[in-house]
Amino acid sequence: MSVTLSDTVSLTVDNGIAVVAIDNPPVNALGLSVREGLVAAADKIGSDTDIKAAVITAKGRTFPAGADIAEFDTGITDPWLPAVIDQIEALEKPVVAAIFGTALGGGLELALGCHYRVAAASARMGLPEVKLGLLPGAGGTQRLPRLVGAEAALNMMVSGKPVKAALAEKMGLVDKVVADDALLAEAVQLAAAMMAKDGPLPRVSEMTEWTEKDAADADLFDRFKAEHGRLFRGVIAPDMILDSVKSAVALPFKKGLEAENANFMKLFTSDQSKALRHIFFAMRETSKVPGIGKETPLIDVKSVGVIGAGTMGGGIAMNFANIGIPVKIIEVKAEALERGLGVIRKNYENTAKKGRLTAEDVETRMGLLTGSLDMEDLADVDLVIEAVFESMEIKEKVFSRLDKICKPGAILASNTSFLDIDHIATFTSRPEMVLGLHFFSPANVMPLLEVVRGEKSSDSVIATGMKLAGAIKKTPVLARVCDGFIANRLMFPYMVASQEMLLAGTPMQMIDSAMRDYGFAMGPIALLDLIGLDVITFPGEMTMTGELVAQERRGQKLNGGFYDYDEKRKGTPAPAALDIIDKVRKHRDIAGDRKLTPDQVVAGLLYPVINEGAKILEEGIALRAGDIDVAAILGYNWPAYQGGPMCWADIHGLPKIVAGLEAMGLEPAALLKKLASEGGSFT
Ligand code: NAD
Repeated sequence: MSVTLSDTVSLTVDNGIAVVAIDNPPVNALGLSVREGLVAAADKIGSDTDIKAAVITAKGRTFPAGADIAEFDTGITDPWLPAVIDQIEALEKPVVAAIFGTALGGGLELALGCHYRVAAASARMGLPEVKLGLLPGAGGTQRLPRLVGAEAALNMMVSGKPVKAALAEKMGLVDKVVADDALLAEAVQLAAAMMAKDGPLPRVSEMTEWTEKDAADADLFDRFKAEHGRLFRGVIAPDMILDSVKSAVALPFKKGLEAENANFMKLFTSDQSKALRHIFFAMRETSKVPGIGKETPLIDVKSVGVIGAGTMGGGIAMNFANIGIPVKIIEVKAEALERGLGVIRKNYENTAKKGRLTAEDVETRMGLLTGSLDMEDLADVDLVIEAVFESMEIKEKVFSRLDKICKPGAILASNTSFLDIDHIATFTSRPEMVLGLHFFSPANVMPLLEVVRGEKSSDSVIATGMKLAGAIKKTPVLARVCDGFIANRLMFPYMVASQEMLLAGTPMQMIDSAMRDYGFAMGPIALLDLIGLDVITFPGEMTMTGELVAQERRGQKLNGGFYDYDEKRKGTPAPAALDIIDKVRKHRDIAGDRKLTPDQVVAGLLYPVINEGAKILEEGIALRAGDIDVAAILGYNWPAYQGGPMCWADIHGLPKIVAGLEAMGLEPAALLKKLASEGGSFT
């Protein structure tokens, strides 16, 4: 007998065992109709005397992979998931969860409400709510510690990382791991065995073994926090998770649930969670380009050419070798080629040393890379990415030759940071095949790829660029041509403002620490030292970076920069830099007595960024505010929990930013002024 309980849940009874199947593609999210169906299933299992036991599973590719987070913004309608799970757990007939794919968030909480859990060998289970600035709010913080102990539970919930089936079994999270294709049969078999068994059902909410043990471990929570300090830095959700698990250990289940719910609501309405949810959606949006869809033909990229084996070229080539695409790397001199290939090999070997690649993988990948000093070797590649020196003359030489050498239909891309892609396209007879593929350094690591659309780039070329980004595990953001595209253009005013602020009198370590407290891994002055003082040119005739470089101080890579560095790379303000600051102040007639507070530092550095972001939007360089946020987070390590610059601006208050810019003597962008006066927002 089979019954449909809701649009997404059905129940089939066979030999006294009800199999409840959730069918809500693509990931069986626990939306309203699934919750209604599960309530109906629980009612039926409870009341139908023909049913003696049940299995809960799903159709398609996974056990439920979480809540329906679109509902977060529209409002969640009854029945709420916690009540659904409580009802299932309270049933007097054994219920087995048959877990496969990725049981995440509410999906895993549902499984925790079942009396037994069987997992397919390839399944993964996790509670990733922390990544959205939330905590597992359907009993997860209360049941998981009762099942696997507080420490293991905290590990999963504070990191948000899923565990594989084998580990889940070892932890006691699942009762049994079985072959993928035997999952349902094994789950039914277990249900049948359990229905014949007398005695109370194992309800996780009633388990006390772990809570008693954990209650006796007086410094468990302090120890966990000390050991995982990095995961707590700046963010509030991990502390709320810790607090909820403390309740699980100290309080009866019902009281603990109340504590969990109160903490969940605090997080749900927090700016951090709003920011992280914005980023979650923004990350998924970036690949959508108006006018480009499934019907846009893609160009097959089976081989790639990279020109220049320097800092960028090497990293770019690695991205393709990593996914099995052969790459030809072109250099001008044999030494440069050898050095470049050597750096790539060392990179791979270092990864292998950390156990993340086998020696064989290293050789396979190196085997996909062929060096050459002859551009003619690029005659048959599908895509060329140019990463030579940042000079229009050299780019002209390269692109006019490529145009002659490359087969028709080959895509010609430049990794230029600041040069005009439209101008570069004029060096070829096929401007429609030209685009920018702007990687960030180190190119094999940084997750952002700006796909720069030239005036004449064809839809197919852009669609292929966006798709390729995904293939090499980067997040693409589409940019139009301008000086610096999105991320670099956005952050240039930040760098400039940091220099002005330093000269005006705020010490470098105070500027840097204010931005670290905001959430950046390092402040702008330390960042300059890391990038290299010779890489960025600031406006003005006498600049601090120019003076430092003149003294052969180029930052961390050579002799230190603003800071001197010890062998552990810890920086202290360099006496040489302090002298230079004085010298430039005198030269520019700056008193150097304006020391700002941390809040003033944040405003002074970030308001100009917001202003630039507004210009990037109004000029149509970026498609959406969310794209700018993603570019800042992935390209410049902007703290995700602040939402990126545009989301942060919305939360911080646009009128305040307009007033602040005016007070700094900066003209607010038209779009910013308009939104501020209308009570509008970027995001
Ligand atoms: P780099 O100096 O490290 O490497 C450039 C390499 O190109 C050198 O090895 C050089 O020998 C080689 N080369 C020069 N002319 C050539 C030619 N005609 N044919 C073949 N090889 C040639 O420079 P980089 O930092 O890798 O920068 C390369 C490009 O990437 C520039 O356009 C730069 O603006 C851009 N970029 C750099 C970064 C960064 O952080 N370094 C980030 C994004 C984009």
